Amino acid sequence: MINVTQPSIGAEELAAITAVFDSKWLGSGPRTEEFEGLFARHLGVPAENVLFLNSATSALFLAVELLGIGPGDDVVMPSNGFVANASAVVAAGGRPVFCDIDEHHLNPSVADVLAALTPRTRAVMVLHYGGYPGDVDKIAALCAERGIALIEDAAVSIASSVRGQMCGTFGDLGIWSLDSRKVITTGDGGVLYARDPAVAQRARRLSYHGLDDRSSFTTATKSQHVWWSFQIEDIGRRLVGNDITAAIGTVQLGKLAGFVERRRAIGQRYDKALGGFSGIRLPPPLPEGHRSTHYFYCVRFDSQAIRDGVSEDLLANGIYTSYRYYPLHRVRRYGATDTVLPVTDAVSDTSLLLPAHQSLLDDEVDMIAQQVLAAVEARL
Ligand SMILES: *Cc1c(COP(=O)(O)O)cnc(C)c1O
Repeated sequence: MINVTQPSIGAEELAAITAVFDSKWLGSGPRTEEFEGLFARHLGVPAENVLFLNSATSALFLAVELLGIGPGDDVVMPSNGFVANASAVVAAGGRPVFCDIDEHHLNPSVADVLAALTPRTRAVMVLHYGGYPGDVDKIAALCAERGIALIEDAAVSIASSVRGQMCGTFGDLGIWSLDSRKVITTGDGGVLYARDPAVAQRARRLSYHGLDDRSSFTTATKSQHVWWSFQIEDIGRRLVGNDITAAIGTVQLGKLAGFVERRRAIGQRYDKALGGFSGIRLPPPLPEGHRSTHYFYCVRFDSQAIRDGVSEDLLANGIYTSYRYYPLHRVRRYGATDTVLPVTDAVSDTSLLLPAHQSLLDDEVDMIAQQVLAAVEARL
């Protein structure tokens, strides 16, 4: 079976885990701090603004909480997004307002966001589809101009950037995923970046019971008569990562550039093999100055029947394909099924993600491309 996603992990990660076991400290501790520092350096931001958490979903829910989103507040987001984007807002009592996307890069344009703004819009939440930055810099400028907060879901855009600025650092809050299907992984894990250091400090408290001192892995400085006494201002939860997952993350971060380069080469190989066939629309080239993680390789067909047929033919031959993200405006629980989003509907009904992970061999890419061509030709 060839999967759409697959983690690349091995002996180095196992060695890092062994070192954590030997240290006898498994919880959030020195290796978490080290990983946060390395991740911050990767982003080009101060380490104090970066938190390693147990998932990107935790980071998204926390981001919405940090902005104080609640009843009466709208958050504009693309319908072509992850389930937790909308759930985080609904859980806080807010309302997701879904916007449409550009039919090429599949991210919202400034015009798409503008069309969805309401007088109650408190925040905009965008992702970078498949690693494509899209118009995030322009959307950030729009939000700044209007005094609207911006949350960037950079879950799959861990190495994406616009003219040298990393995706996830354009807004007030950014989140990344280290889930096992993402470009690099810690098994489970997520990162939160808060631009305002005071917000980052509050995020740290909220991510660990509202306490200032996370887990006292360093010898506590004896500031009080009984150092186990505490006060809290905020009611927090427990969303922190741990030193086992952080140690895996440190190894994976060192491999990121190589993974992305391999993904780029796989995309080029698909482009060559599938280009020139009128019935298959390929992902667009990246604009000047944009960099992508090449997380998705998304192709579009002439009809839903062809798309569904291609996916079935490939599955019958042991190749799993999929489409992300099932449109959120079609999910009844979010209460927006009457939203009209023509591009989102057309794209999600006719597009397919081909396997594109860094472990794929050239022969496998060629074989998948041949099968896609054969499946389309059989339906013309
Ligand atoms: C995977 C993903 C998430 C969630 O990440 P977890 O770490 O699994 O919680 C959020 N947003 C997007 C766009 C994703 O693809």
